Formats: sequence, structure tokens, C-alpha cells
Amino acid sequence: KGLKKHYPIKKGVFSRQVGAVKAVDGVDFHIRRGETLGIVGESGCGKSTMARLVIRLLQATEGSIHFEGRELTNLSSNELRDVRKHIQMIFQDPYASLNPKWTIKRTLLEPMKVNGVMNKGEREDRLTELLENVGLNSSYMNRYPHEFSGGQRQRIGIARALVLNPKLIIADEPVSALDISIQAQVINLLQDLQEQYSLTYMFISHDLSVVEHISDRVAVMYLGKIVELGDKKTLFDSPKHPYTMALMSAVPQVHESSSRERIILRGDVPSPSAPPSGCSFRTRCVSCMDICQSVSPELKEWKPGQYVACHLY
Ligand code: SF4
Ligand code: MG
Repeated sequence: KGLKKHYPIKKGVFSRQVGAVKAVDGVDFHIRRGETLGIVGESGCGKSTMARLVIRLLQATEGSIHFEGRELTNLSSNELRDVRKHIQMIFQDPYASLNPKWTIKRTLLEPMKVNGVMNKGEREDRLTELLENVGLNSSYMNRYPHEFSGGQRQRIGIARALVLNPKLIIADEPVSALDISIQAQVINLLQDLQEQYSLTYMFISHDLSVVEHISDRVAVMYLGKIVELGDKKTLFDSPKHPYTMALMSAVPQVHESSSRERIILRGDVPSPSAPPSGCSFRTRCVSCMDICQSVSPELKEWKPGQYVACHLY
């Protein structure tokens, strides 16, 4: 609720604050148990920052985060450790997120040891089960990350995220670093695991076709704000925000009959340290009106469950 992450910009010998980079600038959303909420937007729009705020790898400047009735922003480190069992993250670069000096076994056992979960025998059984469920042979346990391909490493990253039996998984561009041919396998694996372990996903990607495939609902971000949010089908079939329309128009269509006219976005994404007044998309919007210069549009429900932040509606 009202989540913000601003980084102060300081200047001079007295470190006077002269401004702020508004990486996340007031977002409201919820994730339903068992669903996949896709988050899309161009790089730098605040998707990853938002993910890190939710799992408390970053401290929010403002706003609150509620997980199963608990408010997360003010938890002590002990309380936070307890919550982190239930919320885990899968990172974009599976190589950078695995310790190169640790065997797979050690990588996967560590979270269980730290959290004092299960006894030794049970832990090893859990490892064997997990590796098999992510499509890896359990005989790989004593190998090191460099002995695996990118796709296999991401499977290890996924197994590690599952070790503590979490409820919510935040996946930040989990397939972006992988070859196209491997991406589909990993996406399908994530979907199978969601069913098997009753997982809830927050799935971040700049790739609309991936998000369309995996999500139940989708949030579109632009310059630190959510500009459109709703169920996938409605959002993809009739995007409302001019930014969403432009993004959608760039997705290649399989069927000729459904071809959309390509909308080319003018200009670049403005700097989050100096966002435009009024609507932050106005510098690139083909429908910009007078009111857009001065009044920032709020995210409003235009139809049950569908939200858009634009003065056109
Ligand atoms: Fe465009 Fe105005 Fe809507 Fe912003 S509020 S997206 S500038 S029409
Ligand atoms: Mg990112």
C-alpha cells in the first residue's frame, strides 16, 4: 500500500539533499493466494526495486507490505527470518546467485540449517525430492555451479527457492538470461511446480509474451508507478493505457487476423530523478491533453478488477 522507494541525491560538502531518484513512487496492489501476478515494464521502471521491497531486501521509504495479516515493513531481523521462509526469490542470473565454491548440496542445505528445519536424514530426502522435481538428477548433488548449463543452474536456483516450502515466490526476470529454447522449459517447470506446491508467484519480466503465458493478472509499470492492472485476458485484449497499448502493439502476433497496428513510442523514458509533472507518461503519449501536464492520474477501477491510471478514462 502506497509503497515508495526514493534514493536521495546529495550534493556538496554538507551533503545537502537536492532531489531524489523515485525508483518506486507510490504503488498499490495485492496478490491473491495461488495466482501469478505478472509485472511488466521497460528496464528501469522499478520492477526489480518493487520485488526487493516486498521481500525486504530493500527498506521502503514509505508505505506498507502485508503478508497473511502481518505488516512486514517494521519487523525485527528475527521476525523477518521467519517470514522469509514463506517468501523466496528467484533471480535473473542463476550463476551470480549461486556460490561458485559451494556444491549444490551445500547450497540447498544451507537455508534448512540456518532455519533449523528438519533433521539430517529428512533434509537429504528433501534435497533428492527437490532436485528430481526441478528435473535434475540427484546424483548431481556434489557438483559445483560451473559444471552446469544456464538452464540447469536456473533449475538449481528454483530448487533453492523451494527448499523451505515457501508460499510466495518472487521471480525477477527468471528466464531473461536463458536461451530462447530453454526459456519455455523453465516457464513450464515453474507452472508445474506452482500446481504441485500450491505456490503464489509474483513474476517480473520485460517480455510481454512470457508474462502473457504465465500470468493470471498483470500490472504494467512505468517510471515507478503502476499505470494499468487487471486480469490478463482483459488487459491483453483491450489495453486501456496508451503505454500498455504501445507495449502490446510491439508483441509479434501469431494470427494474421489479430494483427495490431504498431505504435511507435516517441522519445526515451525520462529519468526517475526528474519525472515529468502531471502524468509521468505525458512526454511520450500520443493522447496527451492539457490536464495531463499538471495532474497526475490516479489508478482507478474502470470495470470490476481492471485498473488504469489515465485521464482518458
Ligand atoms: Fe496520456 Fe494523459 Fe493518459 Fe497520461 S493521462 S497516459 S498523458 S492521456
Ligand atoms: Mg530488473
